[in-house]
Amino acid sequence: MTNSVDLDLWLKVLSVLEEKLPRGQFITWFKDTSILGRENDNVIVGLPLPMFLNWHLEHYRTMTIEALKALDPTIDQIVYQVDVGLKDDAARTLRLLEHFPEKKKSRKVAGKAEIKIAEGLYSKILNPRYSLENFVVGPDNRLAHAACSAVASQPGGKYNPLFIYGGVGLGKTHLLQATGNAILRTMPNATILYTTTEDFTNQVIEAIQHQKMEQFRRKYREVDVLIIDDVQFLANKDRTQEELFHTFNALTEERKQVIISSDRPPRELSILQDRLVSRFERGMIADVGVPDYETRHAILSEKTKEFGLLLDEKVLGYIAEHATKSVRQLEGILMQAVAQYELEHCVPTVKGIADIMRKLCEPLNEQKDEDIGFQPAPKQAVSFQDLLEGVSRYYSVSVGDMLGESRVREVLVPRQIAMYIGKKHLRMSFVRLGESFSNRDHTTVMHAVDKIEKKIQEDAQMLREIRTIEREVGLAA
Ligand code: ADP
Ligand code: MG
Repeated sequence: MTNSVDLDLWLKVLSVLEEKLPRGQFITWFKDTSILGRENDNVIVGLPLPMFLNWHLEHYRTMTIEALKALDPTIDQIVYQVDVGLKDDAARTLRLLEHFPEKKKSRKVAGKAEIKIAEGLYSKILNPRYSLENFVVGPDNRLAHAACSAVASQPGGKYNPLFIYGGVGLGKTHLLQATGNAILRTMPNATILYTTTEDFTNQVIEAIQHQKMEQFRRKYREVDVLIIDDVQFLANKDRTQEELFHTFNALTEERKQVIISSDRPPRELSILQDRLVSRFERGMIADVGVPDYETRHAILSEKTKEFGLLLDEKVLGYIAEHATKSVRQLEGILMQAVAQYELEHCVPTVKGIADIMRKLCEPLNEQKDEDIGFQPAPKQAVSFQDLLEGVSRYYSVSVGDMLGESRVREVLVPRQIAMYIGKKHLRMSFVRLGESFSNRDHTTVMHAVDKIEKKIQEDAQMLREIRTIEREVGLAA
């Protein structure tokens, strides 16, 4: 019987591990565990099934000991003990879920963690989960993967800067982080700075406010590898672009590696100053695309292995066939299946997966519609929220602004475009669309749709932009 001190200790250990592991894994492998007692300096950790033993020894032992030692330095080792009595203790599972409720945006929170890599230099943590080895290669990402591998083995070499671009959830962050990890493995003393455009911008602002620009510049010039994720968010940030430009020049002159990601190629980053675009184009540019069926299947197999999950071949095939949007979507569906399996004790079936997918993809649309000759809703339903997010990303305008009242052009046009695409593809009625845009009148929506329809007859650039958004949110091939 676990005493309350040990129970308390174990809960603390679990909250440490919870931060480090994907939720499905955490629930799967820790929900029926406990501290069973102590033996000298050893802690006896109880596992519910024999199959857990190897898995824990191989995957979680080191991190569990670390967490235990950090909380109680007198602890030396773990002794695992299988106790089938722990299994299927519904009350325990409930307690665990209560203690560790799913955190909304937990990814973001975890991603916020920073480490000090040198005096005054902070990098987002490189997540060890991302490696070049566990990135599944297919025709649509082969070049990007090869370029990252080349950079990893020769940073500052031929491919400098390396520019990776592609849609959401297709593996850009994975590749950037994996490259950083790979470089660290061979050059443990290298200063590798991984940052998001948002953080970089904030640091520039802070440096300006505190008149510490010189220090900022000096600092950044000390890094060996600079990795900047999602540079499309540099829109309208002239000062940040300028600083990036200088940093960039200083680093590449010294043959230090720069790696960048974006949702589109440099040329299409119309928001960027030309000189920055031409710098980006000097090195290697590679894209990641939506993986084909075979690659999706291979990715799923890899992920199920990572989660220690056995899925029926038919189920794998079904998910691979239908989750065509992005790798993130694939993962999302898989995680739902794991959660359902864990919580409801039902083995994923094709029908179960189909239900999950329907729920995940449920559009906010209505079928009744004053049809004005638009295309039928796509089979693979995209939600209104997906659309909003897609437009928001593309134009770097927040969703809140699009739904809000602002009538400045930068917001107004994306809002009208979102209405137009909503009407065209999601078959939402004017009334419904109006409601979705903070209860606007349906005539406002009609007017907007009309306006965009006319505009694209003569404005090829806008038409291209709309096509790109449609592709990105999965509404067109
Ligand atoms: P992006 O930064 O392009 O939006 P991410 O790098 O965050 O996308 O990828 C989303 C998820 O999909 C991550 O969990 C990542 O590990 C996974 N993923 C993407 N592409 C692959 C791949 N080819 N092989 C394995 N996992 C992948
Ligand atoms: Mg990313």
